[in-house]
Amino acid sequence: MNLLRLLLLTAGFISSLLSTALAAPSTEITWYGQSAFRITTPSGKVLYMDPWINNPGNSKGKEILAAIKKADLVLVTHGHFDHVGDSTEIAKKTGAQLVASFDLGKAMVQYGGFPEKQFGFGTTGNFGGEVSLLDGEVKVAFVPALHSSSIEPPANSSYPRGLQYAGNPGGVVVSIKNGPTIYHTGDTDLFSDMALVKEYGKVDIMMVCIGDRFTMGPRRAAMAVKLVSPDLAIPMHFGALPILTGTAPEFVAEAKKASPATTIKVLQVNETFSWPQAKLTMQTK
Ligand SMILES: [Zn+2]
Repeated sequence: MNLLRLLLLTAGFISSLLSTALAAPSTEITWYGQSAFRITTPSGKVLYMDPWINNPGNSKGKEILAAIKKADLVLVTHGHFDHVGDSTEIAKKTGAQLVASFDLGKAMVQYGGFPEKQFGFGTTGNFGGEVSLLDGEVKVAFVPALHSSSIEPPANSSYPRGLQYAGNPGGVVVSIKNGPTIYHTGDTDLFSDMALVKEYGKVDIMMVCIGDRFTMGPRRAAMAVKLVSPDLAIPMHFGALPILTGTAPEFVAEAKKASPATTIKVLQVNETFSWPQAKLTMQTK
């Protein structure tokens, strides 16, 4: 009798834990191809990261971009076209503020037509710094990346021709209130200081570039996952341009060997998933 009671109590406890977790407001994450993501926080704030939505790997990119009505922040890691992407268009129609290093933000205003009033000291920073945004809903830490950064203004514009300085390339650690801590690597090679990203907080989700040629390929990306040891790793920066030859299956195979405790989540273009539901799924595996 006592055993039965204990079992019933335990079952009740587990089910109440699960329903609390399931009822908790979730963070929604969508991948648009290349390094472009949308994050919707539990309180409904909308962040875009490296928003090249209308990219060649996204057959619905044009319509999705046209349909965007709300954004609070646009985060950009460096000045290359596949990361600045559609930032200006999104900012113009939503009023979103730009989160970028001082030099990159200035360059985007000066050479990319980004609305000047939507970038300032409130949302900028540089490596080692952390900025609290949206009344504390989101914290963004600026972290280094091993890459390059410049902006090339359109040839048919009144801007100067050729590559323009756009600061140092970086990545970001986005900590969401009642949500996950997300490390978006930007474009980078593997470097051992990635292990220090954890100092900003346990990384729940790592968005990691795997495409090779201009960044880490699958094997080095798997080593980066090992250094950061996130719960979940999402491959990015592959598939949109034929020159990027790294593939998700190669990355999955390498990451399973290098960081067996990490779940690898390969998103389809335009797929959305919820956190913490994704975490619960992982735990029940
Ligand atoms: Zn890139």
